[in-house]
Amino acid sequence: MNVTDPIQYLKGIGPKKQKLLERLGIHTVSDMLTHFPRAYEDQSVLTPIARLQPGESMTTAGCVMQVQERRAGRNGRLTILTVMLGDGTGFLSVTWFNQKYLKKQLKPGTRLFVAGKVEYAYGGRGQLAMKSPSSFQVLDEGDTAEQHTGILPIYPATESLNQKFFRKEMQTLFASLPTLPEVIPKDIEQRYALMPRYEAFRAIHFPENEQQLHDARHRLAFEELYLIQCGLLLLRRRAQEKQQGIRHLMNGHSIQQLLKALPFSLTRDQQRVWQEIVRDMESPVPMRRLVQGDVGSGKTVIAMLALVKTVENGYQGAMMAPTEILASQHAEAFQNALTPLGIRIGFLSGHLTPKKRQAVYDAISNHTLDIVVGTHALIQESVHFDKLGLVVTDEQHRFGIAQRAELEKKGKNGVVPDVLVMTATPIPRTMTLTVYGDLDVSLIRELPPGRKPIRTFVRQTDRRPLIYQYVHSQLAEGRQAYVVCPLIEQNDESDLPSAEEIYDELRFGLFHDMRVGLIHGRMKEAEKDAVMQAFYENQIQLLVSTTVIEVGVNVPNASIMVVEHADRFGLAQLHQLRGRIGRGPYASFCILVSDSRTQTARERLHILETTSDGFKLAEEDLRLRGPGQFFGRMQHGLPDLKIADVFSDMDILLQARQAAQETLASSKNLAFVLPTLNHRYPQFGQITEA
Ligand code: ADP
Ligand code: MG
Repeated sequence: MNVTDPIQYLKGIGPKKQKLLERLGIHTVSDMLTHFPRAYEDQSVLTPIARLQPGESMTTAGCVMQVQERRAGRNGRLTILTVMLGDGTGFLSVTWFNQKYLKKQLKPGTRLFVAGKVEYAYGGRGQLAMKSPSSFQVLDEGDTAEQHTGILPIYPATESLNQKFFRKEMQTLFASLPTLPEVIPKDIEQRYALMPRYEAFRAIHFPENEQQLHDARHRLAFEELYLIQCGLLLLRRRAQEKQQGIRHLMNGHSIQQLLKALPFSLTRDQQRVWQEIVRDMESPVPMRRLVQGDVGSGKTVIAMLALVKTVENGYQGAMMAPTEILASQHAEAFQNALTPLGIRIGFLSGHLTPKKRQAVYDAISNHTLDIVVGTHALIQESVHFDKLGLVVTDEQHRFGIAQRAELEKKGKNGVVPDVLVMTATPIPRTMTLTVYGDLDVSLIRELPPGRKPIRTFVRQTDRRPLIYQYVHSQLAEGRQAYVVCPLIEQNDESDLPSAEEIYDELRFGLFHDMRVGLIHGRMKEAEKDAVMQAFYENQIQLLVSTTVIEVGVNVPNASIMVVEHADRFGLAQLHQLRGRIGRGPYASFCILVSDSRTQTARERLHILETTSDGFKLAEEDLRLRGPGQFFGRMQHGLPDLKIADVFSDMDILLQARQAAQETLASSKNLAFVLPTLNHRYPQFGQITEA
């Protein structure tokens, strides 16, 4: 048997089981191997019956004293088999449902080992019971119960594919799979004291003890992070070492002019980041830099400076935004600031007529435009720059690894453009290294001075009438407001009000005299743009929305945000959302409506009332909600990590990165890793060189 074999080659898997497995994403033997247990049941300790604790999962052994079979259900279809187990310290009743065949095995006098959740028997006056034990074993003459204790895996399972099925199939799998292909070079494996691969896979499914489980997990997490790091570092190396970059000259007249024309001076953080960019751009190695800064920290002006620098050097610049409307806002801002400097700005949008679009394409290729602002359409195949010097992508979380790999092809004659990525998602270092390990990172932590802080309040649902009256009075004074809801439309599984319902409630109710709009992710791009444009132009005063507004359009007149069911959102996400307000001269308010009664939910939201530091909030979010959601929401283009944990595996990550660096330095080791890498992470682009 081979890891690439389809799963139906495995004994015990027929067409029916195959279908069910496919629903869990398991198609091959390898998928099965990486169907890791989500938890373990420790049956390594045998507890005498008298010391069993109701409510706990425990393991015990005893002698069958009594067997009873009952029928129940319609037509007596259900059989219930109960045995009374005794061990000299007490009695435990153990029940199985619909397992008639067991009756033959469980004769009085049989010795039995059982593990599962202990509870009080129904109406049994303190009688201890166990229903459907998670594992049990009849002990033969001479067997000791200790032979059957151990740490048992608990799999992500479904009703028809239960724990027993997975435990059995995994055993079968290992029995017919004597070896596994190696993916980490031997010398690395030794240097980092990793458990051998086969042993690790075996132990992750069937650990003999805690230490072995720990070492197995360590090895497999290392392997996962190591491959990703190899991919990221290769991506970077291909861009930086194997390719020729652009050596921009020192800052010239236009930069000085622009800095002088700005209505403010750069903050210290902005200055530092700008210097880092200048250094990268003036080096012949292509720039690959990520600028991380909270909403409103002033990233746009940094992008503008970098674009002017490339234009000054005779190159063209491209600025990509995730939505049309954001792109058009940037284009407008650039036009205002840069046209006086004689720089020609273009705007590329999916909404242009084919004729106009062609005109922009032509202007790009014959270099009558210096800077083009647009959506992803900008780096598509039909766009040919005459001399592309710099690509800036704003709010990158829609600009994943594959797109970064694509960019290398955009330069002419093998000359690779500089790349600057901007993100307002403050992510901790572990995650930065996992997702942007191919980029250098610049941080802007301080906000420009004189910002009016957004005041945030957490309020219960019973205050909604007052809240909306207040919103109404603000609209009457000329302001605009957002109302954010977690759902688009009503569904049966949830009793949360949807955006559509709240939209109707507000426009037919209290706000019947105002212009109310609705926007959500299921609308077509063009519809969304039209609504955002209307809000921008104050045609809409109150905008009911889902999180689609998160990626920032600047509407300085919008000064209030109400978030319904705020507890449904992550802290970092709420912080991003409220970044939509507080962009003008008006005092701004964010009201988080939540009825959540749990202490943690309330504490969580309370943090937003007291801090406006996006990084602190992101870390708090990770601590409280775990990394899964956080990592999953980012559109980085990596498959979800199967075993490594971007938050708690920092140590492993740093080692894996180090090991990846060592691997790239050895062509033999690199050649060894490439096939696995190409196969498992095609998003890095097929790599053939060693
Ligand atoms: P980001 O893109 O990081 O969210 P922006 O670049 O849109 O933030 O900047 C937000 C606002 O702050 C803009 O109106 C911008 O003109 C202003 N701004 C940027 N830098 C400074 C600064 N150093 N001093 C004062 N205002 C600034
Ligand atoms: Mg921005």
